[in-house]
Amino acid sequence: MIEERDNRVPIIGVARHRLAVDGQGVTTLVAFHGCTLHCRYCLNAQCLSPKGFSRTVTPTELLDEVMIDNLYFLATGGGITFGGGEPAIRSGFIETFCRMAPPEWHFTIETALNVDRQHLERIFPHIHEYIIDIKDINPDIYRRYTGQENQRVLDNLRWLLSHEGMTERVVVRVPHIPDFNTDDDVCRTRDYLATLGIIHIDEFTYQRRTHQSD
Ligand code: SF4
Repeated sequence: MIEERDNRVPIIGVARHRLAVDGQGVTTLVAFHGCTLHCRYCLNAQCLSPKGFSRTVTPTELLDEVMIDNLYFLATGGGITFGGGEPAIRSGFIETFCRMAPPEWHFTIETALNVDRQHLERIFPHIHEYIIDIKDINPDIYRRYTGQENQRVLDNLRWLLSHEGMTERVVVRVPHIPDFNTDDDVCRTRDYLATLGIIHIDEFTYQRRTHQSD
């Protein structure tokens, strides 16, 4: 994984003019390279490849680039969605970028939450909305599918929800994962999330990939 040097980070790409896809209003998706997981059906497998990024940017360079849509953001209540890859591992970059951006912009992050807590603490004051891909709460299923443990995910989710008003700002995506979990497993994940007070759940199905990332 490419390390941050002088707050310059690798990105996969920038996608403009997204409406009602992720985050409110018109959004620009900034997809970061690098991830802490290794999901079998990863749709952005280039984020796992050491040379899978298109370029590197500093916060200033990215702000100059996305500023072109400032009027759209202001008119629709939109802004930037940080995706990837796992954007939360670029917490220093995100913090600096958000501090420089117009205060009216709305910031959304798409994260799997499997990161050190210090990253979340750093971005928390700036991020308005969290779209969390929880995978499956069963540790065995999670390990088989991602190659990692999920205790950190559940701890981070509880930490996020410990802040006032967070249930309105969190959407948890609960996937049916072909060959890895069952409808009953998905129900168990949903029930667990309900006990935490999660109200926005997006249940969907991953597409099985013929060429799996491994
Ligand atoms: S968390 Fe997302 S980007 Fe990372 S490996 Fe899994 S599917 Fe790919």
